[in-house]
Formats: sequence, C-alpha cells, structure tokens
Amino acid sequence: MKKGLRLTETWLQRALWLVALIFAAFLTGLGSQVVGNLWDVEAPLQVEQFMDPAARSAIEAQREQADARRDAATKRLEQAEQKHSVARANTATARETFDNWLATRSATARPDQDPELIKRTEALDVLAASERRALSAVEVERQAQLDADQAMQAVVARWDALERPAAAAYASAMQRKELRVFAYRLALTLPLLVIAGWLFARKRKSTYWPFVWGFILFALVAFFVELVPYLPSYGGYVRYVVGIVLTVLVGRYAIVSLQRYLARQKESEALPDAQRRQTLEYDVAMARLGKGVCPGCERTVNLKDGALDFCPHCGIGLADRCGQCATRKNAFVRFCFACGTPAANSLADQA
Ligand SMILES: [Zn+2]
Ligand SMILES: [Zn+2]
Repeated sequence: MKKGLRLTETWLQRALWLVALIFAAFLTGLGSQVVGNLWDVEAPLQVEQFMDPAARSAIEAQREQADARRDAATKRLEQAEQKHSVARANTATARETFDNWLATRSATARPDQDPELIKRTEALDVLAASERRALSAVEVERQAQLDADQAMQAVVARWDALERPAAAAYASAMQRKELRVFAYRLALTLPLLVIAGWLFARKRKSTYWPFVWGFILFALVAFFVELVPYLPSYGGYVRYVVGIVLTVLVGRYAIVSLQRYLARQKESEALPDAQRRQTLEYDVAMARLGKGVCPGCERTVNLKDGALDFCPHCGIGLADRCGQCATRKNAFVRFCFACGTPAANSLADQA
C-alpha cells in the first residue's frame, strides 16, 4: 500500500482498492446468506408441539364433528325455509282466489253455490295446515343449528384452554431458540473480527493487501451491520461492548504508532545528513516536497524561497549544487535537471 509517483502505479493502486471493495462486497453477500440461514439450523417450532397430543387429537376430532354437524344443520334449515316459503305462497294465492270468488258470490247471492263454498274453505284449511307444518319444520331445523353452533363454541373454548399454556411454552421456546441462534451468529462473526484484527496488525501492507483490506471490511460489516437485524434483547450490549473494545484497541494502536513514529523521527533527525537520506524513499520524499513539507521532518517549509538550502526545523539539506555544472537544484532528485549528471547523494527507490 505504498504510495508511488508513477501515473500507472497510482491508477493501479486505485484499481486494487476497487478489488478490495468488490472482494468485501462478495464476502459480505456470502456472509449475509450464511448468517440469515443459521435460523434453519434447528428444527422449526410450532405451537402444536407443546400440546398434549391425545387431548389435541380428541379436540380436533370433536371440532371436525361439530363443523360437519353445523354444516348439515345449515343445509337442512335452508331446505325447510324454502319449503315454508313455497307453502306460504301457495296459501296466499289460494286465499286471494277464494276472496275473489267470495266477492263474486256475494254479488250474485246464489245459494246453489254453498257446497262449492264449503269445498273451497276446506281446501284453504288444508293449505294453511301445510304452511304451519312447514313453519314448524323450520323451527326444528333452527333449533338444530343453534345446538350445533353451541357445540362448536364449546369445542373452541376447549381448544383455547389447551392452546393457552402451549402458546406460553412456545413463546419461551422461541425466545431460547433466538438466543441460541444469536450465539451461533456471534460464534461465526466474532472470530472474523479477531482474524481481521490480526490481518490489520500483521498483513495490511503485504503484497496481497487488497484481499486483506477486503476481508477486514467484510468482518466489520458482518459484525456491525449484518448482525443487527438478528439482535436479541441483550444483543445491543454485545454490539456496543465489542465496539468499545475495538475502539480502545484501535485507539491504543494509533497512540502507540504515534509514539513510535515520533521516536523514530527523533532518532533519524539526530543522524548525520547522509545517513538520514538513506532512510528516506525517493517517491515518499518527492510526495512530501510536493505537499510543501520537509521530507525529513514533515514540517512545513517554504520551498519557493530561493535561498533555502537547509530545513530550518531539522537541518536536512533541501537544495544543493550540481557537482558538474553547479546549478542550484533540489537535493533529493537523482539527476541534475540542467546537465543530466547523476546526483551524488540520490535516494533509494521504494521497490
Ligand atoms: Zn526538516
Ligand atoms: Zn548539472
């Protein structure tokens, strides 16, 4: 992950960062699949598992029976109601005919029609009686349906009584399962974080750094993002505690690095000029000069000042004269820009 000045090198570094990101994205996709599917590692839970099987099948049979009974009662009631409405229509029609006939008869007042009157009245009575019978059949079926309904309600009440404790047992079993599955997820993602920490400490500058950084990104996302939807009630604590531990570790690492850097810097600033130059890399020195800082001590210097030959902070030579043509030039370049003579105290390449 060293920075170079060559154009292709810069672009290849960027491409390698892209590789790191893509690698992290694919790992993250795979990780989320695995983390999501961990729920299915255990057999699925159902409320029915927590009921007495004998009582359950008995009530289920009763429910089926009551259901069938109610269906049959409803069908019979519909039939009886249909028959009743037919009988009622018959009576109404007959009565209307009779009333009309009676009106005609009153108007003509013919006594020879009396037997006819009796016959018609009898026929009407027969129709009325059959209508009453139809109505009482309807009443019987209504009663049967009511009985079936109440039997069904009783079965439902028994089922509820059986289900309530089972539902409580199911809920606590579910909770235990969630905790267990969270422990599996933790057991999977936490070691990733540990591996990522080791890679960061040991391998982040290796030749294969894009894969190292991809894995580190993946481990961070897996633990701090992918685990979030599955957190149980105490999961937040786990996440924050690990976050705090991680921050402390990274912070400690940064502080130690800073101390080490300052110690190294002080040590190197105490060395003679020629030796100091050997510890500097060419590309690094050029990049620092490009940013307007001293390559030796990284403090700001005014490079545009034509009289500035030495760093006023650390004393390292910034400008010198070419051994061949005596042109004043940058003390870190490898060749004199005026005559092309190789510089006497040129820096080592980074490679
Ligand atoms: Zn300096
Ligand atoms: Zn020269």
